[in-house]
Amino acid sequence: DVTCRYVHGIGAVRGGATLVTFQDVTHLEQAVQMRRDFVANVSHELRTPLTALMGFIETLRGPARNDPEARDRFLGIMEDEAGRMNRLVGDLLSLNRVESEERVRPKAQVNLNEILQATLTSLRPLADSAQVQLSLAAPEAPVLVTGDVDQLRQVFTNLIENAIKYGGSGGRVDAVLSASDRDPAVRGPAARIQVIDKGPGIDPVHLPRLTERFYRADNHRSRQLGGTGLGLAIVKHIINRHRGRLRVESEQAQGSVFTVILPQ
Ligand code: ADP
Repeated sequence: DVTCRYVHGIGAVRGGATLVTFQDVTHLEQAVQMRRDFVANVSHELRTPLTALMGFIETLRGPARNDPEARDRFLGIMEDEAGRMNRLVGDLLSLNRVESEERVRPKAQVNLNEILQATLTSLRPLADSAQVQLSLAAPEAPVLVTGDVDQLRQVFTNLIENAIKYGGSGGRVDAVLSASDRDPAVRGPAARIQVIDKGPGIDPVHLPRLTERFYRADNHRSRQLGGTGLGLAIVKHIINRHRGRLRVESEQAQGSVFTVILPQ
């Protein structure tokens, strides 16, 4: 479905014939359009909390000036909005970093049991406050892959955080680590990490677009929970860098399973 829209050059060749060369500009146009959309999205995402902040500053200067109770409430909301902007900028920087490193393969041997254990420890307070039981099942023997510790930790954090945030109503989230000598997905030895929740699941229409920047299956809920819409885009780029695969299976009212397959 590539179309050549512009004639790149016309030149005379010997014998009176004319040589016409085409340059494919479709990809270039697409890249330019994607960049425009991205800038528009980022501006919109930043402007929403900024507008709220400006409104509250005005209210604090005027009507709420001498009302300590209203002032405290508004300051709380302002703190949340500033936090949202902070998270967005943090995720944009992460996305930028992982995209620029995508072509450089990691070199270190890393231990997935340890990375998952550390991820679960840091997410336990979130799980506790959401009343979600969080568990890890892993083989005794260490599962090693060639990878980047910080980036893999970010992958597991984003997936488990999503499972708690969006699938926590199911009461439990399980992380399962396994290894195989011949994984059909990569036709060789690989590690698999599954993040399983028993929540509401994801409508199949959303699945193909889930890893796009700013794509949200449930816009209202994601914003309410402070999501930036960039978590799975970051996950995708990190997994690409590791030459791995990401699979999502979901059944409505049953839950979701996010599977990461990393070649060893
Ligand atoms: P966000 O910052 O909105 O969480 P993500 O890129 O991490 O962005 O996720 C994209 C969307 O995928 C979310 O907005 C949510 O609608 C959906 N999603 C992700 N994980 C789950 C899950 N485990 N259960 C249900 N929906 C999910």
